[in-house]
Amino acid sequence: MSKLVAEVIQANEQYVENFGDKGGLALPPARHFAVLTCMDARLDPAKFAGLAEGDAHVIRNAGGRASDDAIRSLVISYKLLGTKEWFVIHHTDCGMELFTNEIMGNLLASSLDTATFDGKWKDIGTTPGSNEGKEIDFLTISNLADSVVEDVAKVRNHPLVPPSIPVYGYIYDVKTGRLIEVEEATKVGTVK
Ligand code: ZN
Repeated sequence: MSKLVAEVIQANEQYVENFGDKGGLALPPARHFAVLTCMDARLDPAKFAGLAEGDAHVIRNAGGRASDDAIRSLVISYKLLGTKEWFVIHHTDCGMELFTNEIMGNLLASSLDTATFDGKWKDIGTTPGSNEGKEIDFLTISNLADSVVEDVAKVRNHPLVPPSIPVYGYIYDVKTGRLIEVEEATKVGTVK
């Protein structure tokens, strides 16, 4: 077992010891809301938004983007599990601002090893690469506030999203932990 796996299993044993009565939680989120946010390791939605187990759906991907798969989850979230309000939360210093589809496609074509970054991405790998990456839209971000507005609009205007669900747009500041509203996004996401 790797050191990391041992650490995770040990942490889980501790968690189980203090699990209490959480085995009785209902499947639908008790506080009837969902959060779409970035996978960035510095963000802990349970902490920054005050969530306990059973409270809310948290959907995460690179950038917190309203990808087809994120929308798939949101549709299930309201249609089958009753969420009534949604947050789209991007964040400052997001890695998705640091590359473009073209850069990523070329890095992956060069090798499948981890690239380095010193203000500029560089592939130092020795394994064979693949051109498959050139076919993928990585949903990178060039302007943070614009990306929040864009994603809130995409969710708001999706044919499977009911007009009654408000969609709020926020930016999480990684320097302070504060959520800052993107007013234009919230305006776009208002109930119709
Ligand atoms: Zn991010």
